[in-house]
Amino acid sequence: MDAVSAEVYDVVGIGFGPSNLSLAVALEELGQVRSEQPISAVFFERQESFGWHRNMLLPSTTMQISFLKDLATFRNPTSKYSFVSYLHSAGRLARFVNNQDFFPTRKEFHQYLEWVASNFRDQVNFAHEVVSVRPAAGATGPMDHLEVEVRRLSDRSVRVVRTRNVVVSTGLAARMPDGIARGERVWHSSEFLTRFATADQASLKSVAVVGAGQSAAEITRFFHDSLPHAQVYAVIPSYGYALADDTPFANQVFDPTAVDDYYFGTDTTRQAFWDYHKNTNYSVVDDDVIRDLYRRTYEEDVHGTSRLRFLNLTRVSAVEPAGARTRVSLTHGDIKELDVDACVFATGYHAMDPAGLLGDFDEQFLRDARGAHQVARDYRLVAATPNTPGRVYLQGGTEHTHGLTSSLLSNLAVRSGEIADSILGFRLIEEELELPAAEPETVGNLG
Ligand SMILES: Cc1cc2nc3c(=O)[nH]c(=O)nc-3n(C[C@H](O)[C@H](O)[C@H](O)COP(=O)(O)OP(=O)(O)OC[C@H]3O[C@@H](n4cnc5c(N)ncnc54)[C@H](O)[C@@H]3O)c2cc1C
Repeated sequence: MDAVSAEVYDVVGIGFGPSNLSLAVALEELGQVRSEQPISAVFFERQESFGWHRNMLLPSTTMQISFLKDLATFRNPTSKYSFVSYLHSAGRLARFVNNQDFFPTRKEFHQYLEWVASNFRDQVNFAHEVVSVRPAAGATGPMDHLEVEVRRLSDRSVRVVRTRNVVVSTGLAARMPDGIARGERVWHSSEFLTRFATADQASLKSVAVVGAGQSAAEITRFFHDSLPHAQVYAVIPSYGYALADDTPFANQVFDPTAVDDYYFGTDTTRQAFWDYHKNTNYSVVDDDVIRDLYRRTYEEDVHGTSRLRFLNLTRVSAVEPAGARTRVSLTHGDIKELDVDACVFATGYHAMDPAGLLGDFDEQFLRDARGAHQVARDYRLVAATPNTPGRVYLQGGTEHTHGLTSSLLSNLAVRSGEIADSILGFRLIEEELELPAAEPETVGNLG
């Protein structure tokens, strides 16, 4: 193999979704204030271009947070990367305000994210997947480098970069019910629009959507609109969709200050966040979507049709091929089996877990009594010894330490600012110690 250049950066970001995009913004804005030398950051993203849950950008779906909870405003209300700044540059500020609505469509928010991302093109390597993070050869102390191994997806070539700061932000992982595998006609919501676009839509005469959360309700509505010839089943484990609580007192669980209340709280107070306020985000649906679906089924009753059917208190126990269709076995109710042309599982996601990327290096980080990673307030994995090389920060996967905002957009601006602050703080120590600044160097041959 040819000699491989191991580049050195102050920060290596894994994944370039909204979290690390917001970090890029924070590093630029805080770096200008706090550091004499520019901060060098590089991000690796396996998608071919910027994309935020593209497969769920269904028509008319709206954000579940205020537009003011953008990538920067809560940390820096004068940021040039705010949503308001984007609206201004797009020539839509006045018209957006005329809407008198805090919740833009997801499509518009996606355009905003792409607009911000276009400013950081030179820092991002798209179609590059990070495969591992490990201490650099010979690393023995906290100021030594980590090596991040990256694969370019076009030709599978491998590249190694070095850094003292890795920020893992690889997002949620799709969750299917135990024993049920995805297939040609069995989809997870995270792949929905791609699957739908490539399916022969005329052949989708009967479809099922499994789940009781926002994505399930949105896909049910979408099927009902897009397949006027089809029977649409919504298989829901509850008695009906439950309402997402976004009333003001409850919404405080997403405030930046709630992170401290959670982090420094007792086990009892932390548990209270989940017991009382899980319904702000998990397995719940926005009011307008619930009412819209109910109205549709009522209208059908009035007209004596039932193209849209809700099977409540029902779970799927198995799916299996049945000729060209898929047989869905159900656990409750009059209908025990459905033969459908597509079954979509909107059954949620697993939290982000950095263990796979860290491999053996993961053993150098502490875990709590329940086996979860210990995470410092600045989102750094807690090292088992003071000599563990480098620092690994998490954007996601910290529900157990930092609370409900861990996988959401609500606190991105502030969280990214806190991570950037921490990195810049360590950078000052490195400068005091006169450690060499990050500059590309060639370190030899990978064999
Ligand atoms: C349909 C949907 C709608 C949502 N709407 C909202 C909302 O309105 N409000 C809200 O607060 N939250 C919402 N969420 C929650 C969601 O988690 C956040 O919106 C947001 O995506 C978090 O950003 P992220 O950058 O942490 O993760 P992601 O957006 O998932 O980005 C992670 C990125 O990392 C990349 N990646 C993964 N592994 C690697 C690797 N090994 N190497 C390189 N790249 C990698 C992925 O390709 C991906 O682009 C929604 C979630 C879904 C599924």
